[in-house]
Amino acid sequence: MASFDYSALTVDGIRAGLAAGDFSAREIAEAALARIEAADAKVNAFLQLIPDAALAAADAVDAAVAAGKLNELGPLAGVPVGFKDNMNLLGTRTTCGSHMLENYESMYTATCVQRLLDAGGLPMGKLNMDEFAFGSSTETSAFGTTKNPWDLERVPGGSSGGSAAAVAAGMLPITLGSDTGGSIRQPASFCGVVGVKPTYGLVSRYGVVAFGSSLDQVGPFARTVRDAALAMNALVGHDPLDCTSQPCTTDFTANLEQGVEGMRIGVVPEFMTAQGLEPEVGEAVLDAIQKLASAGAEIVEVDLPNAAAAMSAYYVIGPSEAFSNLSRFDSVRYGLCDPGHADLGSQYEASRSRGFGPEARRRIMLGSYLLSAGVYDTYYYPAQQVRTLITDDYRMAFGECDCILAPASPRTAFKFGEITDPTTMHLSDIFTISINIAGNGGMSVPLGLGKDSKLPVSAQLICPWFQDENMLRVAAALEREYGAAELPPAFASGRAGE
Ligand code: GLN
Repeated sequence: MASFDYSALTVDGIRAGLAAGDFSAREIAEAALARIEAADAKVNAFLQLIPDAALAAADAVDAAVAAGKLNELGPLAGVPVGFKDNMNLLGTRTTCGSHMLENYESMYTATCVQRLLDAGGLPMGKLNMDEFAFGSSTETSAFGTTKNPWDLERVPGGSSGGSAAAVAAGMLPITLGSDTGGSIRQPASFCGVVGVKPTYGLVSRYGVVAFGSSLDQVGPFARTVRDAALAMNALVGHDPLDCTSQPCTTDFTANLEQGVEGMRIGVVPEFMTAQGLEPEVGEAVLDAIQKLASAGAEIVEVDLPNAAAAMSAYYVIGPSEAFSNLSRFDSVRYGLCDPGHADLGSQYEASRSRGFGPEARRRIMLGSYLLSAGVYDTYYYPAQQVRTLITDDYRMAFGECDCILAPASPRTAFKFGEITDPTTMHLSDIFTISINIAGNGGMSVPLGLGKDSKLPVSAQLICPWFQDENMLRVAAALEREYGAAELPPAFASGRAGE
């Protein structure tokens, strides 16, 4: 039994403890493994644990500390980290939650993963997700559902459900997810943790299995805004292996303490009256607006007249890009192979039918149709025009405000099996999708528990391109009002879901 409370530690707390000799990185890794063993029996966030790699990384940190070189180690020295299973890490499988890649061994390490390791992170394992990141509940994973630590009968959200749940249950302080239409922000909201989708281009996607390449972005989950900012510091920057990645030398922790005095916070009236917005979520967001106003922010109404069309544009652009990206899983070069067919066409058909689950097949068939001759001009081309309109809406709105505050998810976490109709499931993302369409940064910040459901509720912050540090600044101000994310009672110190 560790002499320290592992689940309560922040990134700064780990560093301070290492410096003071309160514990070693090996003890941290062992405490993380013990915590995961106990809590994940209930939550099922992990698809693969890598204790040997974690302990080896911990020993390297301890050797540096012993040599008096803690200061030379990166910002995440000794911090246990985990990765959504669409991110390659040498020595692990990268399954994307799919039978198609059930046995796929990573051939190299994704840049985002490598950056956390270079920053001193201890790699603990790979985390569950909706198959190929298609979904909002982690129910489409081929390897079982992940449970929401706040209520084990509810979904953690998705598609990065394992990454959100691992943080919420106190198993890991930092995890990575990917967000194409809301897959970091919505599960962060359901699990009551911080989740950041950085501006498109801030984080390299090299080595992350692509879903929609013009929409995908990698970002961190954490229990505190500062931990998320420290993870951002490690993650961002140009990568010669991803031509969409941008240079960035921002310190995302620099203005967390500055407060919101004099900042202009935009509120979008159509979001606050959207159909399907649960009253307790709407009220929590209004309360957050009030609190920012009391803290000295100027609240301004902004219009996003075309945002209502974002969902339609996304379900054209997303499946079209997914269809192209997933064509590489041909059972020859990559992916499950159903052998013994007389010709290649039958082999493709049989392998892909067996390898992909229903939601992946739906997206592939939709994308194939949307890009076919004759249909392309009717859907794909107009969707790109709508994309330009939405991008312009955000550009105009950010002429009048520094950051937008909106709901992240229209509702709190739902029960397993509660939503079976794909269209209703897709509506989980009504407040997040337009941000991927426009490429802005967005993040989910916990606002405590809903007054009726007693489940986590949250707000979403949206920033102009490459001004993510201002979004984190507002998030830090909200965190001071509402308190940092807490562990659910069943997973509080020393408890693991019983
Ligand atoms: N839930 C959305 C979808 O199903 C978004 C997924 C994502 O961001 N990866 O496409």
